[in-house]
Amino acid sequence: MARLHKEYNQFNGKLVLTKKRKESLLGSRDSLRTKIENYFKEEKSDELQPTFEMQGSFEMNTVVNPIIEYDDDENAIRKYDLDDGVCFIEIEGEDNRKEISTWHDLVYNAVNDHTGNESIRKATCVRVVFSDGHNVDLPIRYINDGDSELAHRSEGWIISEPKEFSDWFNAKANKKIQIRRLVRYAKGWKNYRQLTNNNLKFPSGFEMAILITENYQEDDFDDNSFRLTMSAVLEKLNDKFECKRPTTPTDDDLFESYSEIRRNDFLNELEKLVDACNKADEEDNFKTASEYLRSNIFGERFPLGKDESSKQKSSRKSSLIGVPLAPKPYAE
Ligand SMILES: [Mg+2]
Repeated sequence: MARLHKEYNQFNGKLVLTKKRKESLLGSRDSLRTKIENYFKEEKSDELQPTFEMQGSFEMNTVVNPIIEYDDDENAIRKYDLDDGVCFIEIEGEDNRKEISTWHDLVYNAVNDHTGNESIRKATCVRVVFSDGHNVDLPIRYINDGDSELAHRSEGWIISEPKEFSDWFNAKANKKIQIRRLVRYAKGWKNYRQLTNNNLKFPSGFEMAILITENYQEDDFDDNSFRLTMSAVLEKLNDKFECKRPTTPTDDDLFESYSEIRRNDFLNELEKLVDACNKADEEDNFKTASEYLRSNIFGERFPLGKDESSKQKSSRKSSLIGVPLAPKPYAE
């Protein structure tokens, strides 16, 4: 059996953000914060002033480097997606809640044209797109007496506790740090598959993080942990296609609104993933095993294994050292 633990870890190295990249993304976020703060200070000084709360994958440390795309002028496009909550915290005993559309308009006006691109009005946020492809989403929340609600332009006020969720995830992932790597692998898979087939719409990173955390199978080796975890996810979803939010509002099935096509497409992709992982697991040659994962799963960001069998590798290793090694359970 050709263990691909090392290759998976190299893949993780390509997915994870460098310190420099993180700082530059946070720089974009901070420039928008300043714009919004100034706008409210200048135009709406007698009203509730916004505060900010980073949410989503940045808080979970599961952001991945996207596969680089190129625009018509061959400029590199990197589609990072950040979420920075714009929060209006009520003053005790007062009611300064505005219409959903009013708050969306104010935030939109504050940031529009900041990057030279027009900002995008989405149902759940105002999106600011930067010229190198990354975007900062600005969901707007009203927080009154500890209750946090999202200003959703089509569904009205929705209970939303993003910090509760990232705390839930971080508590699990800090105990079992492998979970974070598995979420990154799954996001790398999603990125590659959606680029290869534009019709595919995978679950969100948030939903994938729930599925992985709740079906996590621990193993010393990442290839095996990922294989077993994704098999468990497939089994669970085949049994019942749902994804319940583990934190407030709990029992909310995030898959409820999925179309039949979206559901079937994802199950189909998941089956192909599990099948490729199983084939790689049974394969004895490292290169062949890695090829199962490169074609149609992760793409070429996943490292190509060496063209040798696990037996050749262990005999090469033992002859190098000069004494035959007993096969270890941890051999790569
Ligand atoms: Mg977003």
